[in-house]
Amino acid sequence: MLDRPLDAKMTEQKPVNDLTASAKPVPTLPDAQTVTEVTHYTDRLFSFRCTRPQTLRFRSGEFVMIGLMGDPDPKTGKQKPLLRAYSIASPSWDEELEFYSIKVQDGPLTSKLQHIQPGDQIILRPKPVGTLVHDALLPGKRLWFFATGTGFAPFASLLRDPQTYEDYEQVIVTHTCRDVAELTYSKNLIENLRNDELMQELLGDGLNKLTYYPTTTREESPKMGRITHLLQDGTVFKDLGIEGISAETDRAMVCGSMGLNMDLKDILEGYGLEEGANSDPKHYVVEKAFVG
Ligand SMILES: Cc1cc2nc3c(=O)[nH]c(=O)nc-3n(C[C@H](O)[C@H](O)[C@H](O)COP(=O)(O)OP(=O)(O)OC[C@H]3O[C@@H](n4cnc5c(N)ncnc54)[C@H](O)[C@@H]3O)c2cc1C
Repeated sequence: MLDRPLDAKMTEQKPVNDLTASAKPVPTLPDAQTVTEVTHYTDRLFSFRCTRPQTLRFRSGEFVMIGLMGDPDPKTGKQKPLLRAYSIASPSWDEELEFYSIKVQDGPLTSKLQHIQPGDQIILRPKPVGTLVHDALLPGKRLWFFATGTGFAPFASLLRDPQTYEDYEQVIVTHTCRDVAELTYSKNLIENLRNDELMQELLGDGLNKLTYYPTTTREESPKMGRITHLLQDGTVFKDLGIEGISAETDRAMVCGSMGLNMDLKDILEGYGLEEGANSDPKHYVVEKAFVG
């Protein structure tokens, strides 16, 4: 069992305008947090960590609004915060926050966010919400996480939460991307989990409680194809030695594009699973990885 009390380990936060008391003044952002680490994976993907507000409590899998100050209004010169929904990729016990992000070259936020460096500030509205939480599912035996692209972010949080392994006998995470390099974040995270002594106890003998099933749609890799097709033609079940999905034993969380979410809803409902919500826990839950 992990023992990482949040309050004891939480990063001490200085008031934002005290950060560089002796250096040149830093503009004060509303709800500012300080970036502590940035990792780039491809020209489209990066992750970063930042300080966590002491008052922020969230359930693994939830999202918050984060952003930067927008450009000054050409008429008034005033700047407004430019905010977007982001899944918190770190687990609820972590002393810092982690985010896993796309870089949209002409995207209002990520065209700028992709250039952040340790020491920079971001805006974080501390109001976590979302449906990809354990509370929205009825008890079950096997938990599936279906992700494409940055839709892996909420599962990066849930996969590092001990509750996931305490509540289920088996956890299967599928991650589908176009290219092999786009799987780096999930691949590294799974490797780190398997090498973490505290997690090994939760992952059971041979670490076989957790199965990682990465697939690519464009670049050649050991497993190619959209996860929806691989489910429909039975490949996933054959590969994993599983008979199929049933409402009695299986629970699922889905996070991808609108198209993937709709297709997976159809597939899961075809197996008799019903969609749940925070107020009405059922067999599966879905959240958009992005709008558009
Ligand atoms: C509930 C929720 C959670 C989200 N969590 C994350 C997250 O953890 N990480 C993250 O990177 N984004 C996430 N997003 C998307 C995020 O809110 C922004 O859309 C994204 O950061 C791009 O912002 P932008 O201002 O640069 O471009 P936008 O104007 O917001 O988007 C421009 C276009 O880029 C494409 N796009 C946007 N986001 C993505 C994406 N993540 N993957 C692929 N294409 C995309 C879409 O076609 C969109 O129309 C989430 C969205 C929602 C609704």
